[in-house]
Amino acid sequence: MAIQTEERIETKTYTHTTKLTCDLCGAVAPRPYDPWVNYEGDVDRVTMSYKKGSHWFNDGGDIKEELFDICPNCWKTKVVPWLKSQGATPRQDESSW
Ligand SMILES: [Zn+2]
Repeated sequence: MAIQTEERIETKTYTHTTKLTCDLCGAVAPRPYDPWVNYEGDVDRVTMSYKKGSHWFNDGGDIKEELFDICPNCWKTKVVPWLKSQGATPRQDESSW
């Protein structure tokens, strides 16, 4: 007698960024997985996104995100001046450890 167990092997598809360009000027990030810096450990990152959804702690979640890829130069020369022209003032934050 053979006892058989059904086993299901699922394959997963992962998406990773292989090229990243600035949505405003077209600059190509030198390291798409850690954009806008040439050396590991450096930080020069712009994050512009909107997230909406829910998370239920240990029971998963469903969140959609809309984002733009903006280079630091466009952040400084285009985005911040435009936001300031609309009356916004950037909040400053600093991390040291
Ligand atoms: Zn740019």
